Amino acid sequence: MKYDKSDLNEYKEKRDFKKTTEPKGGKKKKSDKPRFVIQKHDASSLHYDFRIEIEGVMKSWAIPKGPSTDPSEKRLATLTEDHPIEYADFEGTIPEDQYGGGTVIVWDGGTYRNIRADKEDDGMSMQESFEDGKVEVWLEGKKLKGGYVLIHTKQGGNEKNWLFKKMKDEEADARKKPVKSEPKSILSDKTVEEMEKEMKKK
Ligand code: MN
Repeated sequence: MKYDKSDLNEYKEKRDFKKTTEPKGGKKKKSDKPRFVIQKHDASSLHYDFRIEIEGVMKSWAIPKGPSTDPSEKRLATLTEDHPIEYADFEGTIPEDQYGGGTVIVWDGGTYRNIRADKEDDGMSMQESFEDGKVEVWLEGKKLKGGYVLIHTKQGGNEKNWLFKKMKDEEADARKKPVKSEPKSILSDKTVEEMEKEMKKK
């Protein structure tokens, strides 16, 4: 199966913008420096949404266990619909009866560099890497730094299944466990539980 090019139609179809405060996401946009974000999302099941800017949208994967800084730990990452670039700054609570109902915080984010583009014998763009089923990025986040790879494994026969893992480099650290040790938002400094309480007061 070949993926369609990025588009925001599925994102818009799934949401009722009269009910959710998530960004409407008009058109595709480009940042000066390409961005990534990881949102902790306490939905029907807790997960971390890894989103990375490709061709003017945030390509998105849901990672149930969250990212690891240990190169020996492979994390299942399930492809979800493209999100608008503005989504990288979204925190808050999506109403329970809406798609993705639950609370979201920006757990990490920053800019990234495409590792494959810089390899002389490779040179693939991010879109090409995505279609090739192997995305290699150098993250410059507040929490996550260094090389990470996404590989299209289709585990269990599911086309949407990829795996996400840390590459072996100077930023790898098996002991760090940032999902546990650094639970707070990089924007509001709140945990997802604190954010949830605050939103309920409103
Ligand atoms: Mn999610």
